[in-house]
This record gives sequence, structure tokens and C-alpha cells, in this order.
Amino acid sequence: MLNVKTQKLHLAHTWTIARNSSDYKENVFVEINKEGITGIGEAAPNVRYDEDAVRTTQRLNECSQTVEEKNLLHFQDLKQEIDRTVTDQSCAKAAIDMAILDWAGKKLGAPLYKMFGLNPDKSPLTSYSIGIDSPENMQERVRENADMPIFKIKLGKENDREIIEAIREVTDHVIRVDANEGWHDKEFALAQIKWLADKGVEFVEQPMPAEMMDETAWLKERSPLPLIADEAVKKTSDIIKLADAYHGINIKLMKSGGILEALSMIHLARATGMKIMLGCMVESSVAISAAAQIAPFVDYVDLDGNLLLADDPYLGVTVKEGKLIYNDLPGLGVIAR
Ligand SMILES: [Mg+2]
Repeated sequence: MLNVKTQKLHLAHTWTIARNSSDYKENVFVEINKEGITGIGEAAPNVRYDEDAVRTTQRLNECSQTVEEKNLLHFQDLKQEIDRTVTDQSCAKAAIDMAILDWAGKKLGAPLYKMFGLNPDKSPLTSYSIGIDSPENMQERVRENADMPIFKIKLGKENDREIIEAIREVTDHVIRVDANEGWHDKEFALAQIKWLADKGVEFVEQPMPAEMMDETAWLKERSPLPLIADEAVKKTSDIIKLADAYHGINIKLMKSGGILEALSMIHLARATGMKIMLGCMVESSVAISAAAQIAPFVDYVDLDGNLLLADDPYLGVTVKEGKLIYNDLPGLGVIAR
């Protein structure tokens, strides 16, 4: 049986990026109950990808017959079927993929990272994201999280340089930058990136709008910092065309439609020589713990969506000084608080 519910997750602080601002997110949770085992998954609908909680709920319910009738341990076969059933709302696909894998892990009695043969000690340290705010408030967020070794600073408004100067006043830790498509002129973007390189920034995520591929390819030829595609990449079939414009890709389960597609993206990106980042939306510990299961595969980790919440309803993989701490629980390793 499939249970779908929408739940409001409140942010500890108003969350602002280049395109919008929010105090809470409405994420959709799905539970598969079968043979006395419950598998859980989470969808974080995002307007940037034309997603919402209502259609996500519909898509999840449309999967109920497949989940009911099919053997969930054949999750590779099931993925094909779900790809045919759910043709939009990739976050819904992510939720059902997670729930099936959580169920399978519990049925087999193993955490997913063990089922995939991964060593959790190899997971890179996660960054901690600082949303756009006044430079003073952004400094305060950094001070509150002073034990985090890597900060990801959201930029893409008018005062980017003022913000970075302010952050550098309060930390000498690694800084990454995410412009969230905020720079619309390639010459301006290049000037910003050169300035950021002088400030010791490690890389820049999605400097220009996803559709500005030629401009971004121009930028890549000249950029002193690696450029990581985020909004420009959702699934495996997007990757090849990005190799000329970006040095790496940011994989998120909500964009890929789950863990299995993310694994296929990892293998293709590796083959093309691109760097691989594993990111997230604002999500509870369900989706964050799901992504963490494959983190040992990637170069950069940004799994902090749950750390930004005031009221995470779940407990799973935790973070200590940027290090992901795994438990030995089967599946996603998640329990309700
Ligand atoms: Mg991003």
C-alpha cells in the first residue's frame, strides 16, 4: 500500500537565492507498506522545474499499482516502468525510487551504501550553504556554523563582492559560490569569476542561465575557476552536451528522479572527465540520507538541506564538522524523530 502526504518544513532562517525567497517548503512524503516493511521517500517540488505538491502527489499515486504488483527487489526493472509512468515531476520519481530502495534495503537487511559496495569513509566533506541576506546576517550564519569546513555562498544579486568581502572577514574556510543563473552577461560573469578566484573561491556553480550554453562555453575557455552545471543538468541524457561548457555537474536526486538515475549520471560524467558534485534541495533527513548513500562516489558534496530546517521530522545521516556520519540501519537509515 502507498501512503502519500504533504508536509510543511520550516526553514530556520528565510531562504533566499538569486531567483526567489521562502520561509517554508511543502515536501511530499511517500511510504510503501508491503510484507510488514515500510519504505519511505521524499519529494521536494521546485517551481524552477515546473513542479508542485499537487501534481507530485498525483504522480506518486499513479505508481501505486506498480508498487503493489511488482517485486520491489527487482528495482532496476522497476525503474524502467516508473520512467514510463512518471513523465514529469521528477521529484515524484525521486521519492518513489527512494522508497523502493529503502524497502529493498530493509528487506535485505543492509544500508544502501553497503548494497552498492561503497565505503562511507570516502565521502567528501559536505559544504554548508549560506542563502542571500544582508552581509551582516550572512556573516552571522557563518559564525553560527563556524565548525563547517566548507561554505557555499549564494550570489547572483547586485552586491556579490560586498558579500564575499564580508564572509572572508569572518572565515578562512573553503568558499564555493553558487550564482543560480544570476549573471546574464558573459563579460560580467568572467570579471566576477576572476575576482572570486583572487578571493580563494574553489569553484562557481551555474554562473549563467542554463539556456546560455554558448556564452557559458566562452566563459569556460577563460575561467580561472571550475564551472559546475546545476540548473543546466537534470538527468543522464543532458550530460554529453554540457562537456564543452562546464567542468563538472551537480547531481541532485530531485532532478535526476532518484538514486538509480544518479548512479548512471555518475558513471557517464566520470567517463567524460567531468567533476561530480552531489547536491540537494531544501529537504528533510529522508532525501538527504538517500543522497548520502552514494556520496562516496563523488568529488564534492553539498548535502545540507536538512541542516537548514527548523523542524526536520526525521533522523538519518548526520553531519559533524562537515563529515557525513552514517548509521548501520538498513535502507536509507532513516527513522522518524
Ligand atoms: Mg545550485
